[in-house]
Order: sequence, then C-alpha cells, then structure tokens
Amino acid sequence: DAKARGRGAISVYDPAMDAAARDRRALEVDLRAAIERGEIGLLYQPVLTVDSGSIGSAEALARWTHPTRGPIKPDLFIAIAEESGLIVPLGRMLLRQACFDAATWPEHLSVAVNLSPVQFHAGDVQDTVVAALADSGLSPHRLKLEVTENVVIHDVERTFVALERLRAAGIKILMDDFGTGYSSLGYFRRFPFDEVKIDQSFVHELETSPAATAIIRAIVGLGEALGMAIVAEGVETCAQRDALVLAGCTHLQGYLFSRAVSSASIAALEASGLFDRVVL
Ligand code: C2E
Ligand code: MG
Ligand code: MG
Ligand code: MG
Repeated sequence: DAKARGRGAISVYDPAMDAAARDRRALEVDLRAAIERGEIGLLYQPVLTVDSGSIGSAEALARWTHPTRGPIKPDLFIAIAEESGLIVPLGRMLLRQACFDAATWPEHLSVAVNLSPVQFHAGDVQDTVVAALADSGLSPHRLKLEVTENVVIHDVERTFVALERLRAAGIKILMDDFGTGYSSLGYFRRFPFDEVKIDQSFVHELETSPAATAIIRAIVGLGEALGMAIVAEGVETCAQRDALVLAGCTHLQGYLFSRAVSSASIAALEASGLFDRVVL
C-alpha cells in the first residue's frame, strides 16, 4: 500500500500504480496465450568445473519474446506466472523441455532447472519430474533442481520431505541465490543440498567489499565441511574468477565464460574444448 512504499497515507489513488497493474494484467493474458502456443523457450548457460576447466552442466533459463514488446525479462514473467498460478503448467513444460534437450547432450553433461516455490506447493512437482525423466529417457543423476531459500520458508517439513524423495531418486538438489533470501544455516542441518550457488550480488561486490569476500569464504568452508559443491554465478571479470578460484569455489558460471545459448550450442561448445584454459 501507499504507506509501505514510504510515501505517506495521502496518495490513496495513484494513477501510475493503476497503469502498472493494468499493464501486468495485460502481460498475464499474453503470457497465458504464449504458454498455450508453446512460445516460451529455454536457453542454457554453461557451468564450468574449476578442476577440469570444462563444462559440467548447464542451467536452463526461460526466454519469452513478446510479439510486440520484444524480449521480456524472466524475473518479470516468472513473477507474473507465480502470482497467477501459470507457473504450474509453464514449469511443467519447461522441465520436460529441459530433460528432452539434455538427453541429446553428451552423457557427462547435466542440466539444472529452476523450480519456483509455487510449483512446489502446488504439490505435483514429484510426478512432473518422474514423468519428464521417464518420457525423455534422461538419467536422474543428470538432472539438477535449483530451489531458493524461499521454497523452504512456507512449509518446511513438507518441502524437505519432497526434496528428500527427489534426492533419493538420484536427482541433485541445489540451493540457488544463497545469501539473499531468508537464509538459515539450519537448512543445511536439516537437508543435505548437493550444491550451493552463491548469489551474484556477492560476486559483483568482490572487488569493493571485504565483507563479500569473507561471506564467500564462509560459504565455501560450509560447503567443504558438508560435502556440497560451491557454484559462483554472475562471474563477469577475470579478477572475479581468480578471487573465486582462490576462495575455493568449485564451479563458475557467468558472462565471462558464456551467456545462455541454445541446446544445440551446448553440445557444440563442449566439443570445441573452448573452455579448457579459461579457468586456470
Ligand atoms: P537465476 O536462477 O539465479 O539465474 C541466473 C541469472 O543470472 C540468469 O538471469 C542469467 O542470465 C544471469 N546471469 C548469468 N551470468 C551472469 C553474469 O555474468 N552477469 C549478470 N549480470 N547476470 C548473469 P535470467 O535468465 O534473466 O533469469 C533471472 C531469474 O529468473 C533466474 O535467476 C530465475 O530465478 C528466474 N528463472 C529463469 N528461468 C526460469 C525457469 O525456467 N523457471 C523458474 N522458476 N525461474 C526461472
Ligand atoms: Mg538458478
Ligand atoms: Mg541464481
Ligand atoms: Mg535469481
């Protein structure tokens, strides 16, 4: 409301707010149609393994090009999909697409798929995952699911039970954007995440903030003690890369190496050995 936005309680009617709400509603209508027509696609961003300097996996990132507005930011259309419940059919579609795409890649490459808390709490995540794996023929150990801290806050016990079942099936569970949400170290006591992705805000502050370096080192220490791989995302410069390798991050992802590319390009990039010397 107006108060929460820090503008006092005077402005009861805000035409700008009204326009923004109508705009969002219009986008929701277009998004629904785009989902029905299968127009939301996926690109894949390589994640490098520091030890080998090669691609170990790629993160599936949703892309929507609106017929008149052009590309819409995923942060925006995913949020609209979450508010409207459209994330359930959309998420199911994207998960299936990612599994079918990854099944065409070399065997040692995995795919990481982002899962929304809403998808989780709608209750059909497990069935969706099992069906996507069975239909695509992708082995469960080649699928990673990325969840944020926000997935856990609502119904902690139910969520961890669901995550445990998926993990028992051989799927890896990643904590995404770690350090920005309602972080609780207790989650790591309760659930053995396979990997933790350090939020890119820490990576971007590396050169200017001693606190960012200290936090990254602490997360790496936690990872080493608990057997979790540590991924740094948003790596844009060689200085960041060097600091992250020095701090002990095991995996790196960012524009320095590659933006998100088509499924076909993932296999090609990997075969080209382009990354062999990038990390070390
Ligand atoms: P995320 O899961 O944390 O994904 C990483 C984001 O960082 C991606 O933004 C990626 O393009 C961007 N990125 C990667 N390297 C760099 C870099 O070096 N510099 C900078 N500045 N950014 C970099 P993108 O594709 O715009 O996606 C934004 C968010 O939207 C994702 O954050 C994720 O939360 C959500 N999202 C995207 N695709 C999906 C999806 O299929 N399902 C769900 N539930 N959420 C998705
Ligand atoms: Mg992610
Ligand atoms: Mg992330
Ligand atoms: Mg994010």
